Amino acid sequence: MTFDELGLSEKVLQAVAASGYTTPTPIQAQAIPHALAGRDVLGIAQTGTGKTAAFTLPMLSRLESGRARARMPRTLILEPTRELAAQVEESFVKYGANHKVNVALLIGGVSFADQEAKIMRGADVLIATPGRLLDFSERGKLLLTGIEILVIDEADRMLDMGFIPDIERICKLVPFTRQTLFFSATMPPEITRLTEQFLHNPARIEVAKAATTASTITQGLVASHGGGQKRETLRQLLRGAEGLKNAIIFCNRKSDVAIVYKSLQKHGFPVGALHGDMDQRARMASLDAFKNGAIDLLVCSDVAARGLDIPDVSHVFNFDVPTHAEDYVHRIGRTGRAGRSGTAYSIITRSDQRYIDDIEKLIARKIDWFGPALVDLPPAEPGSEDEHPRGRGRRERNERPARGREREGRERAPRPAPVEAVEPVEAIAAPAPREERAPRQQEPRQQEARQDTRPERRSEAPRSDNRGGRDARRVDARPEGRTDRNERRPRHRDDDDVPVVGLGDHVPSFLLRPVVLKPIKVSAEAEADTEE
Ligand code: AMP
Repeated sequence: MTFDELGLSEKVLQAVAASGYTTPTPIQAQAIPHALAGRDVLGIAQTGTGKTAAFTLPMLSRLESGRARARMPRTLILEPTRELAAQVEESFVKYGANHKVNVALLIGGVSFADQEAKIMRGADVLIATPGRLLDFSERGKLLLTGIEILVIDEADRMLDMGFIPDIERICKLVPFTRQTLFFSATMPPEITRLTEQFLHNPARIEVAKAATTASTITQGLVASHGGGQKRETLRQLLRGAEGLKNAIIFCNRKSDVAIVYKSLQKHGFPVGALHGDMDQRARMASLDAFKNGAIDLLVCSDVAARGLDIPDVSHVFNFDVPTHAEDYVHRIGRTGRAGRSGTAYSIITRSDQRYIDDIEKLIARKIDWFGPALVDLPPAEPGSEDEHPRGRGRRERNERPARGREREGRERAPRPAPVEAVEPVEAIAAPAPREERAPRQQEPRQQEARQDTRPERRSEAPRSDNRGGRDARRVDARPEGRTDRNERRPRHRDDDDVPVVGLGDHVPSFLLRPVVLKPIKVSAEAEADTEE
């Protein structure tokens, strides 16, 4: 099949040809004709399948007739992260080279004033993250009643990040008669419910399962002790990896992104970092430096990195094994793209074995050990961190909290100083380029004036339903009257940095026994006080 057969406009076809694409990918071949016909589409596809063009190309064709009015965008694309939103904007620039379309980007961490000016001019395409979009809408700066096409991209990721209530609100603000193009890599029940509620007789197109890893990727497990020895294992891998051109290194928590980033920087590696707490400029600087080869290594959290399209990554390292097996598939999918070969190594400590079992079950294959297996690993050196792990609690062991403890809601003591002194997560700034890797690069971030000084009521950081006591510090910005019933606890909580002290997970069972309290009489007045 060729692009000519899909019904796209001449201008779009010319831009596609200029991009060098000759054959539509399966999601493009199947989704574009339905999208052009105005039908709702449910695309079950992950990044790397060409799904961005599957919605961008028909949108451009359809936008050729009609004009945008001030404050009333004609189409809306919702993306879970700022980077993905910026990536979609680039697609409009590329495929819309022959069009006169006004594209506006509404993402957090960027000045309101510039964004407002673009919307005032009239946007044909509005690409937004949910929080910033609702901010604009609630301030009366944006009317969604002119939306003709709504795209919801990476819906399962929105779910992970706690954005589903926002998506539901946005769906109710756009006209009932709009066309909806909905994309998700997986279809958990919450997402199915959303599609049943907001899609009208959609064409369902499924192109790849999240459980498949490309055959072009060589995978390996590397046994290691924890703590500082794990960082040494990573360094050895980086120094010895065959054909290493560049690599993405995944950590489960942003605190570890900071630690690994600083450690690699200290050891002279050209490295950058990417996680949800960095400001937008620093995130884009890291990403650009990695894409253009100024740095070879990028230490990331899942939240920041999933879905990013970086075409030529030779290696992926899982510094931490992901606790959710599908994340393994997404992470290693950063390499071996478009038929290229790639290598993915996962560093495994004693407590990780069960996660590996889950991953191997999901991908339906065994992953070989690279070097000695965990059982053959010599004991940790006396006095090393692994002998006295710095945290005995779940965080150090890569675990999610047990439900009972989650509900405790008690304050925890400050975290003890880590063994290797690192600067706070917030201090990560622009990456250390190859030439300047020795000096510390922290100052610019602190000097940088925040562009956006207006209060942002919503945060694009992952949210929680706040039932877990660990999030008691957060302000829940949800509108009143909304129920939590259908909201899943965000899986990727990039901010899982609460220290574990005392017993950690090892709570004696007698302390966990339920305590039966005798009912006491409470006056109506006292009850009212409590509710407040
Ligand atoms: P996506 O899944 O949208 O993130 O796209 C993955 C990559 O595939 C991007 O780098 C696109 O530029 C590229 N791509 C999209 N469509 C095609 C196509 N028809 N042929 C070859 N590459 C494509």
